[in-house]
Order: sequence, then C-alpha cells, then structure tokens
Amino acid sequence: MRAPVYDRIALIGLGLIASSMFWAIKRGGLAKEVTGFARSEETRDTARRIGLCDRVCDSAAEAAEGADLVVLCVPVGAMGAVAAEIGPVLKPGATVSDVGSVKRAVITAVAPHLPDTVHFVPAHPLAGTEHSGPESGFAELYDNRWCLIVPAQDDTDPEAVARLRALWEGMGANVDEMDADHHDLVLAVTSHAPHLIAYTMVGVADDLRRVTDSEVIKYSAAGFRDFTRIAASDPTMWRDVFLNNKDATLEILGRFTEELFALQRAIRTGDGEHLFDYFTHTRDIRRGIIEAGQDTDAPDFGRGAKPK
Ligand code: NAP
Repeated sequence: MRAPVYDRIALIGLGLIASSMFWAIKRGGLAKEVTGFARSEETRDTARRIGLCDRVCDSAAEAAEGADLVVLCVPVGAMGAVAAEIGPVLKPGATVSDVGSVKRAVITAVAPHLPDTVHFVPAHPLAGTEHSGPESGFAELYDNRWCLIVPAQDDTDPEAVARLRALWEGMGANVDEMDADHHDLVLAVTSHAPHLIAYTMVGVADDLRRVTDSEVIKYSAAGFRDFTRIAASDPTMWRDVFLNNKDATLEILGRFTEELFALQRAIRTGDGEHLFDYFTHTRDIRRGIIEAGQDTDAPDFGRGAKPK
C-alpha cells in the first residue's frame, strides 16, 4: 500500500475502464476518496449497489467539484460535452485527464472548455476486454500493461504529469509519454485497423449463407474465435474511435489493402516464395512481441482475461 497520490479523484463515466481504475486505486490506496458519475440512473444505481466509488453523484459537475484529479472515462465522442459541463466547477490547480482511445481529437474537443488554472494531461491505458459497463471492471486490468500519457501542450506542468504517472504506475501499469499525433498513428496500426479487420471478417462469415452459423462456431479455429470476441466490443466506443481517428486509420487501411492485393496476387500466380517470405517476416514480428513481454502464446490477443 502506497501513500495516496491524490486526495480526491473523480471518475466521469463508470464503465469497464473507470470501474477497473476504481478497484486498482483502492487496491493501491492511491486516493483518499473517489467520486463517480455515470449518465444513466441505471448505471449509477448499479455502481451504488456494488460499492463502485466512495460517492456516486447525480451530475458530472457534482462529482468533479473539489477533485484534485478528474478522469473522463466516456466514449471519445462524448468528451467535449462532459468537459463543457465540468469546466466551470474545476478546482484551481486540479488535473483533468481522460482515457480515450484517440488523443488528438480528444485534446481538440476538451481543451477549449478547461480554465487556465487546471492542468490537462490526457492518457490512454492500453488494456481492455470486450466487456463494458460498471460490473465489468477488475483491479488487475492494468497490471503490466502500458499506459500512454499524452500531455496536451509542450509546456504542461511536469509536476502534474509526474503525479498522473505515479497514479498509473500505482495501478500496475508501465507508463510512456507520447505526442498525440504519433499516438493516433501507432494505435491505428496496433488496435484500430485490426479491430476494423476483425469486424469485417465476422461480417464476411455472416454473409456466407452456405456456411451455417453452427458450422462457423463449431469449426472456428482460434483466429476466428478471437475475431468474434473483438467484434463483440462496444459499438459506441468503436464508432467514436473510427470517426475521431479517421486520417490515421484510413492511411493504415490503404497500406493493408495494398499488402492484401500483393498476397492475393501471389496466391493466384502460385508465388510460394513470396508467401513463405512474408509469413516468415510476420512470424518474426510475433516473436518480438512475445519477447517484449506484451503477450503470451495463448490465443487471446493478449487481452488480460477476467479473473474468476
Ligand atoms: P463503457 O464500459 O461502455 O462505459 C462508458 C461509460 O460512459 C458509461 O458509464 C456510460 O454511461 C458513459 N457514457 C456513454 N456515452 C455517454 C455520453 N454521451 N455522455 C456521458 N456519458 C456517456 O466504456 P469503456 O470501455 O469504459 O470506455 C471508456 C473510454 O475508455 C472510451 O473513451 C474508450 O475509448 C476508452 N478505452 C476503452 C478501452 C476498452 O478496451 N474498452 C481501452 C482503452 C481505452 P451509461 O452507463 O450511463 O450509459
């Protein structure tokens, strides 16, 4: 148990990411009090029932008022409206952060609503499951996962950044700092485009009427099963990710299409050497990921399984 990093933390939005933060904050004793707010009464009732947050508030402003750290844990497309609501009540010297999967669009949407007296330090934990909602969180979600801190400005107060880093490290994460545009490109390669491909593959299988649903499930190899798991991720979250990381995602999908055409051509022309070399290269990339400790051999795309 460490000394608290903040006196009071406010979590706005109480889904998978916020609820996992709450349990990890409690596990580490990282705050004296955590307040929370969710849009629907149903979620707020659930939070109160399961003891998620020390105090569940009926408005975002009420939860944020007096907090030393306010973390926006809502879908990317909702960040701006939430910032507009809490902006007027923020305590001078407080830090505002977020956990959105896209960074440049969030900075553009949120920054104009924040007073000059607060520090804005966006972040993105690279951890998740396909589950959502207040009951899906667990304290271990961030253990040994990366959290990328993306300071909104070059002159962001280093003390505010260091404190947020200490919080994420206290929750078990490894922390790196990154520029917003670079973050969005890296995530387009490693997460956003792969999700779109998974969605498409599951859609294609569904289109093949000659293959029955039961056959798809019964004979699905691990790869396809992983695709179906990814394709079960929250539709609102992923709609917002693609709409808000448009340029980087389209750039990567363009490159993906070119590579796919090259493989398609190799298959048609019987160019086994091309296929073999390509697959050897991709296998080396996979080995590098395992050696870096970012995944195991288990076929689950490395997304930490929910403990029983
Ligand atoms: P989630 O489980 O679906 O929870 C979303 C929360 O936001 C809920 O409390 C929901 O309230 C609230 N919300 C939804 N729309 C809203 C709106 N228009 N205005 C105000 N509140 C709204 O989502 P999550 O997985 O925790 O994701 C939250 C954020 O983390 C997103 O920005 C996402 O990009 C990011 N992220 C997600 C993952 C992941 O794998 N899931 C990983 C890293 C980062 P109600 O329950 O009342 O509807």
